[in-house]
Amino acid sequence: MKLRSFIKIWSAIAVAAILAIQISCARADAAGEDNRTARAKNIILFIGDGMHLQNEIALSRYLHGTDFDLSWHKFPYYCYVTTWDIDTYNRYAQSIGKPKYAPQSFDANIGYDPSRGGLAPYPIDKNGERSYFLNALTKWGGGSDTRAVPATDSAAAASAIATGMKTDAGNVSWKSGDPPGGALKTIAELVREHNRWSFGVVTNVQFSHATPSPFVAHNVSRGNPGQIAREMINVTKPDVIIGGGHPNWNTGYISSNELNTLRNSTEYLLVERTTGRNGAETLLETALQARKWSYAPYSKYHVGAALITTSGRIYDGVNIENAAYPVTICAERVAIFKAVSEGDREFVALAVVSDNGAYPCGSCRQVLAEFGLDTRVIIANRKGENIHETTVRELLPQAFRPENLKTT
Ligand SMILES: [Zn+2]
Repeated sequence: MKLRSFIKIWSAIAVAAILAIQISCARADAAGEDNRTARAKNIILFIGDGMHLQNEIALSRYLHGTDFDLSWHKFPYYCYVTTWDIDTYNRYAQSIGKPKYAPQSFDANIGYDPSRGGLAPYPIDKNGERSYFLNALTKWGGGSDTRAVPATDSAAAASAIATGMKTDAGNVSWKSGDPPGGALKTIAELVREHNRWSFGVVTNVQFSHATPSPFVAHNVSRGNPGQIAREMINVTKPDVIIGGGHPNWNTGYISSNELNTLRNSTEYLLVERTTGRNGAETLLETALQARKWSYAPYSKYHVGAALITTSGRIYDGVNIENAAYPVTICAERVAIFKAVSEGDREFVALAVVSDNGAYPCGSCRQVLAEFGLDTRVIIANRKGENIHETTVRELLPQAFRPENLKTT
């Protein structure tokens, strides 16, 4: 399967953020100190669709040999929230002779009954009844073949998270009953409208699929992913979208026409992964191409560099020597200074090509560290061989950074 990502040109924000937004964060830390001045740069809403606590435990055991050692298990706060979609609510209501769901008069314990399902997921709370989750229930209104094991539909669950509203199974941020004009405003739209924040969706499924789409689209059915893709690209316009769904693989998730619209867009930068190639190699090729402009008449040691930033732009650089030797500058810093002088300061990766695949000098490591320790650094020789990948953090441990200037 091919993956694709596209990034709206005018807004460079952190990749891998579902909501990349500025917010004031107030919380008491472990020592009881009120830390009201702390500001979060990004908010990431992470959804493991269909992922039960048992899955988390299995993953934690696989990675760490213990049950609760995933990164989010170390968060200072967590809680459990659960919901049934309206179709499932109505199945339960019917089974106990109660009225069907109504927004103003529903019964929270039919929405989810903790005395039957438990206050926390299994195996933290082992009191839940198996029958509450596993016994098939008849659809509201009956019918011969309409019994189903209760389960909240992914689109309805994501819609509940994205809009605060319970809706029907299959609805993508659309009101129950599918009325015309039933679009429900999502949290992403609200933060843009009220705070001018940026947002995006990043997913390892098709980007117009049931779980990512309710945050950035509206539809009466998750069964219309082509319409959902069209709305995302032309109407909602998230700042970042990363996900699968190439039309060569399955035409349902995005049409070839829509893909071509994106390819020609001046608003979005489309990044497509090509089978058998990776981005690091492409960046290395740019560095290799740039290397021919290296000005190194004294050392004859030619270096090319290519830096990609979160805006998607690539800046190349070469080493430039001088008869007055000390004013010579390295390829890496030329690429970095070109990016910074264009207003691009969020680096993703830097590729460096030299005769023998040497690593950046100390001065370049220091300049890289100024703009972030997570920048990936890819090193290769002039044939593009002996590729090594590392990070600025590994190249310059205990780096001196802007925060070290704050002495209080
Ligand atoms: Zn250098």
